[in-house]
Amino acid sequence: MMDYDIIVIGGGHAGCEAAHAAARLSMRTALITMELDALARMSCNPSIGGPAKGHLTREIDALGGLQGAVTDATYVNLRMLNTGKGASVQALRAQSDRKAYSREMKRRLAAAGGITLIEGEAISLETRRCFTAKTASPSQTQPLEVCGIQLADGRCYTATRVVVCPGTFARGRCFVGHEQYVGGRLDERSAEHLSTSLDSCGLPLHRLKTGTSPRVDRRSVDYTALSPQLSEWREEGFEVYAPAMLPAWFLPCWLTRTTADTHELIMSRQQESALISGLISGAGPRYCPSIEDKLRRFPETTGHPVFIEPDGLDAEVLYLQGLSTSLSLDVQRGFLSTIPGLEHAVIVKPGYAVEYDAINPIELLPDLECRRIAGLYCAGQFNGTSGYEEAAAQGLVAGANASLSLLGRAPLPLARENSYIGVLIDDLTTRGTTEPYRMLTARAEHRLLLRHDNAALRLGPIASDWGLLTAAQCRALDELRQRVVSVQAELTTRNVSIEQQCRLGVKDKHPRGLKAVDLVRRGFAAGEVLAVAGGASAMGAGGGSYLAQSAQKHVEVEVQYAGYLERARSESERIKQYAKMAIPPDFDFSQLSSLLKATREHLGRLRPASIGQAARVPGVTPADLANLIVALQKRRKA
Ligand SMILES: Cc1cc2nc3c(=O)[nH]c(=O)nc-3n(C[C@H](O)[C@H](O)[C@H](O)COP(=O)(O)OP(=O)(O)OC[C@H]3O[C@@H](n4cnc5c(N)ncnc54)[C@H](O)[C@@H]3O)c2cc1C
Repeated sequence: MMDYDIIVIGGGHAGCEAAHAAARLSMRTALITMELDALARMSCNPSIGGPAKGHLTREIDALGGLQGAVTDATYVNLRMLNTGKGASVQALRAQSDRKAYSREMKRRLAAAGGITLIEGEAISLETRRCFTAKTASPSQTQPLEVCGIQLADGRCYTATRVVVCPGTFARGRCFVGHEQYVGGRLDERSAEHLSTSLDSCGLPLHRLKTGTSPRVDRRSVDYTALSPQLSEWREEGFEVYAPAMLPAWFLPCWLTRTTADTHELIMSRQQESALISGLISGAGPRYCPSIEDKLRRFPETTGHPVFIEPDGLDAEVLYLQGLSTSLSLDVQRGFLSTIPGLEHAVIVKPGYAVEYDAINPIELLPDLECRRIAGLYCAGQFNGTSGYEEAAAQGLVAGANASLSLLGRAPLPLARENSYIGVLIDDLTTRGTTEPYRMLTARAEHRLLLRHDNAALRLGPIASDWGLLTAAQCRALDELRQRVVSVQAELTTRNVSIEQQCRLGVKDKHPRGLKAVDLVRRGFAAGEVLAVAGGASAMGAGGGSYLAQSAQKHVEVEVQYAGYLERARSESERIKQYAKMAIPPDFDFSQLSSLLKATREHLGRLRPASIGQAARVPGVTPADLANLIVALQKRRKA
């Protein structure tokens, strides 16, 4: 008998979710990490969410994962972003207490049952020949399967499923200007040996880099020069089945901007950046560039925003979001002195860059299992992504799918049409990535359908069927679904009298009354209309529970965006229907005159083999696909 069903290597955001998902599926799980007190430690600023990332966190919660709940239990500042924009891009963003986040994650993993937490460094993967692997690529004559791991201190553990999530630690190197240190994060050890073992199993590795901003002493900042970003007081957090606990204390974040002097100083000393001097060779995150990179790429921007964020309730440290850098400490001190509010800021920890080993996720199957090594799953930063949310989402999927394969069950049915997580996994495993991948709302072609407000309704049924939810979460999901039905019914049947219209402040009043749903269509909040019109069953006993409010919000969005949603759904259906339609290898994309020239050239270069593949080519819109389908149909007829 194997020591464990599943072994997870790495206690970062990916590893913690992987172990938790495995435990939910009743696997005997070992989580092996170099420092148990650093579980889910946030390497950069302790912030979760924002557009697309916040959607991922809600989806993780809908699938029974931990990130949303741990954030809700430890945040000190929470805001809904983009409230002035459309429903598809609205998302929560939380500033957590870094230490509390890590502690809370450890507490929840310990409470989950079935997870053995082991401190140690995994140095090698034990494999054996496998003749039945579904993963064998045609070029491979001796596919391998995993059977265990070895730790640096000699301990060995057996398992037929191993989830590898080493983050930025695999041969990690940190850079501050021309100084170089061995480490997965500044002041932390790197994992030097695991890469060699993976390499010898035939898994190709490459180098990527990411960076972080300087941290400053909070007593050295001049707050009178800054704009405060206050927390909102809201019951709804990242958890979809339960209300967030309101914290005892809120802390403000602050906003300032770089100046012309900042830019001049950085540009004149840019050769002191490890990135620009060529000391770092790995590709960095395009959508989270260092300040020196931003100034080169956007020379016309006069002031880049700098968000000043607390590290936690009792922390003396503030994080400077937007100033990620690998410039020397001396230059960092210099450029801070040119930014309003930070003129006298004392650096507690410098900004730095880290370079590490990663795989190209094209090496993985859609369930995140390695094509070359059966039973080996990979997740997180190691797969070429950047961000806590992206890491956690992959961890959940890898941990769940590794468990489901042991149970002889199908993997989680996550796809581009039902989730951001589906978009993430599909992008990674079908297109691969050679630079750190970050989730953006623009990556999801069905983003109006993948909203923050409907995460539980989209993914809850899958999570429940696949055994990822607790009994309480299943009950909450059922209640939510019932409440949605009853809110819909209340809105369509309730009549709002003239007197009630006056109370609501309706401008175009109707003497014979109006349907509640018509007022919601005009932009009134569903909860407010039902409260005035007396929709008792929709409000729930006691005037409106968290789930009742979630149901109202959801129905409100569905009513207000009904036209757009209908179009998005029919486009999604059409694309699904046509996804398998083959594009002949000699198809001439340059003839598609209705497409942008750049799109035609891009398609001509990449030569997608089907409409499904063409749909995933960056820049190809649903309208482009419609034109392509018509052209293919014409060609067939001809
Ligand atoms: C300097 C820096 C700046 C960043 N900036 C941002 C940012 O601004 N925003 C953002 O969203 N993300 C940022 N990130 C990325 C973010 O930290 C990662 O995306 C996220 O933490 C990845 O999670 P993970 O679980 O994949 O890996 P990590 O969080 O890196 O965790 C890896 C874990 O694995 C353990 N481990 C590694 N190898 C072994 C081994 N062989 N044996 C046992 N244990 C092992 C480590 O001890 C660690 O606990 C930054 C990262 C760094 C390092």
